[in-house]
Amino acid sequence: MTDKGSLNKKLYVIIPVVLAVVVMIAFAISGNITKKADEKSPTAATSASAVNEDNTSKKEEDAKVTLIAVGDNLIHNTLISAGEQEDGSLDYTSLYTNIKPDIEKADIAVIDQETILGGSSFEYSGYPTFNSPWEIGDAAIDAGFDIFNCATNHTMDKGWAGIEKEIEYFSTKKNVVQLGVNANEEDYNKITYYEKNGIVFSMLNYTYGTNGIPLPDDKPWCVNMLDKAKVEADIKEARANSDVVIVFPHWGTENSHDISEYQKEYTKLFSDLGVDIVIGCHPHVLQPVEWVTNESTGKKMIVYYSVGNFISHQIELNQLCGGIAQLTIEKKNGEIEISSAKLVPIVCHYSRGENDKFSFDVYKLGDYNNDLAASHSQQGGTVEYYTDLVKKVIDEEFLSMT
Ligand SMILES: [Zn+2]
Repeated sequence: MTDKGSLNKKLYVIIPVVLAVVVMIAFAISGNITKKADEKSPTAATSASAVNEDNTSKKEEDAKVTLIAVGDNLIHNTLISAGEQEDGSLDYTSLYTNIKPDIEKADIAVIDQETILGGSSFEYSGYPTFNSPWEIGDAAIDAGFDIFNCATNHTMDKGWAGIEKEIEYFSTKKNVVQLGVNANEEDYNKITYYEKNGIVFSMLNYTYGTNGIPLPDDKPWCVNMLDKAKVEADIKEARANSDVVIVFPHWGTENSHDISEYQKEYTKLFSDLGVDIVIGCHPHVLQPVEWVTNESTGKKMIVYYSVGNFISHQIELNQLCGGIAQLTIEKKNGEIEISSAKLVPIVCHYSRGENDKFSFDVYKLGDYNNDLAASHSQQGGTVEYYTDLVKKVIDEEFLSMT
């Protein structure tokens, strides 16, 4: 690690201009996405202005971005079967149809890809070591998701080979970004910047662990782990080079609506480092949303501790109720403001059809009804039940039914 530090210093001294040019070319080629295109060096500061280089006057113009983020895309066996077509192909587009309009409407849409998209190179599998079809990714992309968080406790379920296939999958998807897994050490050391409507975002995704499956000795960089030194270095660089820093941590206690000590510890670290937005996943259930004000700087950070599951075949009612984090980020006179931070509750609906095959849909709670609830395989999840649950966990100021 010391080698890298001294290398960075040398780069800073010797070739900052070269790097700046490389970054500008990368922006020119990749359009609004800088998929890990910035070098980890102080010269990366140039990248933020390079984004708007072709339209300098835009820099100080007011700008607005809407961003949504959903929780775990948790693909159990029955979900894999749900996409099997008569001709033998796989098609999962119907899973996301109900909320596709909301996903498409957002400028940036983020999903937590809990299970590895290893594709057909391995047998498809559900719990406990998952492997999901690439067609799941296709359906989510078709629904409008732009950013996939891939650092989860299931990332190592198919070992390094699974990660390689997941990276290969995303490498073919133009305008879609995966966060959290890395093809090499160089990628591990780069930050992902994403420019939209004149606002530069940096996006960081980490997991607390990989279910006890060790990372390969020769590839400790393959998954982004919540490691304080790593997180600190990344966020410092991201803070210096972007308008908005977003962290997507895979953390917390499964099936608990309470914020754990571990989450509190990292929340404080994120706040101290000047993060703007934190959107967490992994507990499978909703956890509170709150503004955290930094004691020394007074800076406010919005934290969604857990947005729960997005789609799954989990069976507890509280695991079937997740949320869509819905944010509006504005830039006024060069200052960033999160002008709206809401959570739209959702219900994962499933029922058993012909041949014991399950069908799955996601509904906004505002669109759900008790006729649907009566046909759910898990009984008791009425509109009243979920409304009550959501109100217990999420402060009213953040709740939106639309
Ligand atoms: Zn998880």
